[in-house]
Amino acid sequence: MSLTFDNKVALVTGAGRGIGRAIADSLGKAGVTVICVSYSESSCGAAAQAIVDAGGKAVAKAVDVSDVTSVAKASEELLDEYENVDILVNNAGITKDSLLFRMTEEDWTSVIDTNLNSCFYWVKGLARPMTRKRWGRIINISSVSGIMGNAGQTNYAAAKAGMIGFTKSLAKELAGRNITVNCVAPGFIKTDMTAKMAEAALDKVLPMIPLKRMGESSDIANMVAYLASEEANYITGQVFTVDGGMAM
Ligand code: NAP
Repeated sequence: MSLTFDNKVALVTGAGRGIGRAIADSLGKAGVTVICVSYSESSCGAAAQAIVDAGGKAVAKAVDVSDVTSVAKASEELLDEYENVDILVNNAGITKDSLLFRMTEEDWTSVIDTNLNSCFYWVKGLARPMTRKRWGRIINISSVSGIMGNAGQTNYAAAKAGMIGFTKSLAKELAGRNITVNCVAPGFIKTDMTAKMAEAALDKVLPMIPLKRMGESSDIANMVAYLASEEANYITGQVFTVDGGMAM
């Protein structure tokens, strides 16, 4: 089945690497104009250039998503240029793992700011024109950690569970304006984020995955592309785990 996107503009955070890059690539291939956001200019620049080189439309914007002022300024600039961002994918995220008694306040706050508060900032910045257009897609990338919990990740699991509550509440608020809001909760996906995991930790995780392997960024991108398309117009307030069966 081919997916339908009519002249849509998408903003993908964390588009410089990993899952966000795969999401940006797949939307770019589908003809969507993609605004690639990441922390560093070089990483979102390379992502946008790759989409353009493949014949698509993309621009790069370096924004610290954990900073409310930067997100508000970027949102204003983008709405001046594009009038409307139709598809918002809140994907940027970080981990700063440690057991609670060793976790610093900085590690707690930066993970909540980057993963959860950023969603609030971007929706505040970009959703109002969606309500006027009576069309919008908001897709938040959560995690199985937010569903199952994970020792060493109280900060991350709290942020990712918070994204689920945020998604369901926002879906109820925006449904009357034909804006859908959904979460995708990846399991263990091969990216820079999981490359930092120790071999021993990975050996513990693999037996917990019924499909017995880690996922690819494209597995998440495929689900996001579907949720962003016209074809998903009757789906809202849901959490889709893409995790090889881990959280069933
Ligand atoms: P990744 O490879 O580490 O890439 C993270 C991306 O987020 C990078 O492009 C990075 O920008 C961007 N980013 C981080 N902090 C930022 C900030 N303050 N402002 C702007 N951009 C920022 O991560 P990933 O594995 O693809 O993960 C993507 C999302 O999926 C995250 O929300 C993560 O929690 C979630 N997830 C991942 C897994 C997994 O197994 N990989 C599992 C469950 C959920 P730069 O490129 O400029 O550094």
